[in-house]
Amino acid sequence: MESAAVVLYPFPEMGHLVPMVELGKLIHTHHPSLSIIIIITPAPYETGSTDKYITTVSATNPSITFHHLPALAVPPDFHSEFIDLAFGIPELYNPVMHNTLITISAKSTIKGVILDFFSNACFQVSTSLGLPTYYFYTSGASGLCAFLYLTTIDKITNSKSIKDLDINFDIPGVPPIHSSYMPTVLFDRETNSYKKFIDTSSNMAKSSGLIVNSFLELEERAVEALRDGPNPPVYLIGPLIASGNQADDVSENECLKWLKTQPSKSVVFLCFGSMGVFKKEQLKEIGVGLERSGQRFLWVVRNPSQDVKEFDLDDVLPEGFLTRTKDKGLVVKNWAPQPAILSHESVGGFVSHCGWNSSLEAVVSGVPMVAWPLYAEQKLNRVYLVEEIKVALWLTMSSDGFVTAEAVEETVRRLMDGEEGRVVKERILEMSRRAKVAVEDGGSTRVDFLKLTRPWTDM
Ligand code: UDP
Repeated sequence: MESAAVVLYPFPEMGHLVPMVELGKLIHTHHPSLSIIIIITPAPYETGSTDKYITTVSATNPSITFHHLPALAVPPDFHSEFIDLAFGIPELYNPVMHNTLITISAKSTIKGVILDFFSNACFQVSTSLGLPTYYFYTSGASGLCAFLYLTTIDKITNSKSIKDLDINFDIPGVPPIHSSYMPTVLFDRETNSYKKFIDTSSNMAKSSGLIVNSFLELEERAVEALRDGPNPPVYLIGPLIASGNQADDVSENECLKWLKTQPSKSVVFLCFGSMGVFKKEQLKEIGVGLERSGQRFLWVVRNPSQDVKEFDLDDVLPEGFLTRTKDKGLVVKNWAPQPAILSHESVGGFVSHCGWNSSLEAVVSGVPMVAWPLYAEQKLNRVYLVEEIKVALWLTMSSDGFVTAEAVEETVRRLMDGEEGRVVKERILEMSRRAKVAVEDGGSTRVDFLKLTRPWTDM
């Protein structure tokens, strides 16, 4: 039998890489005859965590091949902004990718190339080679509605930039979205990043299919709109969240040990993704609010200063905070094993930056959220999570994103103790149950996954 392969081209940052790897594992589990080849370019910025993760996955999943592209010299005039690099590096690699795909094709039939949206540059390469090219959208179906609508926004805004608008966008499938909630990288239509997003949105609409890390029952209206619109087939194959081999053994982790000593559903967990950093002033405000809320808490705090490598928690939290709250809370620096924490019996609430992976992890574990968006598409996710899916509470913040101690105190208390908290908790528990059904045989996720992969396995 002729060998067949699926090539996955993720963006090498944990929030995008982990779900893509999970997709690769899922394909291989159900179709062991398909080789899974995952393309890795150098990350646009220094991060040790992806290297460690890839090493662990390689060791535990020998059937998945990570194909590391060679380092290339970055031209001196290259844009240095994160988003420009994220789109720009794959562009630099197009000639290499062209050769790579030809080399793989010499040994195996490539059944599909699956791109992250940041790997958009490769669309032109893979389609010119006649390869079915898909996008794996690592956010949700509602987010995809907004992403695909970008080309329409580009037309209807009559050459105005989003930053100069004060309107609601009526995007099919999602609640009205105020222009100020759009990702800031889209604010100015003259920027490179704006143009890259529009180009990606346009290519996605021409692709062989759109794969989404969500499940039908979580975002029914959005999925319906996607399927009613002039789009390629849309496959909801989630929730795909980090499984097993992501981290080291976490049982000895101090957060999990501490959680074991806490009453059931009593702890609110505060964690803000891989890049959420607050200034000292905001950290102090959170500390005051948490203490006044009287709730038990587990809080991941990042270094507020870019200038120094190390930091002392006592210096960035309210004076005496750690001592006064030592029986009620635990503060850890930099990173905590979030999926294991969210699924711990003692956790009853989650103050989240609304990153999509975090949101899915909360859904799977049935932990209601307070929405505190920080960057990327998180303000859009807040609208979906609060207004549409109804699994999170809105947190009042100023236009520059500052949140007062009073708002922290009041919203955390409402989440953990109030009637609104009870309602979102019931709703997310229902979503958690639906997620389990979706991934079972005959469930919506399984059905979509089989539809996606059938053309790859029919000989
Ligand atoms: N994460 C974690 N510990 C932390 C911070 C983040 O394990 O202290 C994980 C989290 O569980 C999620 C991912 O990092 O899987 C963050 O992805 P998300 O899409 O939520 O946000 P991003 O970091 O991409 O903004």
